[in-house]
Amino acid sequence: ASWKQRISLAAEFQTCSRDGCNKPADYCQVHHLIPWQAGGFTNIKNLTFLCAYHNGINDDDPKRPTGRGYMFRLNTGVSY
Ligand SMILES: [Zn+2]
Repeated sequence: ASWKQRISLAAEFQTCSRDGCNKPADYCQVHHLIPWQAGGFTNIKNLTFLCAYHNGINDDDPKRPTGRGYMFRLNTGVSY
């Protein structure tokens, strides 16, 4: 994600997007809601912040499920 995309995301999210996680956005990784490998675009609607731990356990690959769930976007925002 570009610097401008990170700044825009930071206006929407101040922390990791997982409920109950307070890791500040400055310390988070930019996460693709639809995985880049699956054709997800690097644009604001497809991005959110996740901390390294929650990015690591996100269920991105149907062939290698982690069983830990995944993030997605609704009209109301990003959810889990
Ligand atoms: Zn987190």
